[in-house]
Amino acid sequence: MLTTIVKGMRIHTVSPSDSFSDAGREYRASEPGVPLRCCLRKSLEGEPVWLFRYSPSSGKGPYSEIGPVFTHVDCPGGASLDRLPVELLNNPRILRSYNAAGQIHDGEVVEPGSFDRTIVDLFNNPSIESIQVRSVSHGCFFFAITRA
Ligand SMILES: [Zn+2]
Repeated sequence: MLTTIVKGMRIHTVSPSDSFSDAGREYRASEPGVPLRCCLRKSLEGEPVWLFRYSPSSGKGPYSEIGPVFTHVDCPGGASLDRLPVELLNNPRILRSYNAAGQIHDGEVVEPGSFDRTIVDLFNNPSIESIQVRSVSHGCFFFAITRA
């Protein structure tokens, strides 16, 4: 089992209300198993979700990116902002680090069981301001991490 506490870390989720900035957002009455960026777990059968374009704040200028994310339509909450979401970290993930100017510092594929150590190592580098966690297969943004 993963230990998921990294001291001095803050998780940043995506709010369902962010979907309203995308006029092309799609409503799905049920899309079980998709990674929800609001409460950082997989969706259940019968949970309505939004699918929309989202730009994480850590990338700036040419490093700003837009990609697809899912959130609940009505999120019941439950995301812990000081511990890593185990349900979204049971596969290898890309950890992409950014400096304060919003430029990519580095990216690496991290295996389950190594997230805590990798995040601690990245934040030991003072030039790294934030980390994006992304899927390996699709490259999609899951959530961001900063120092608390
Ligand atoms: Zn949610």
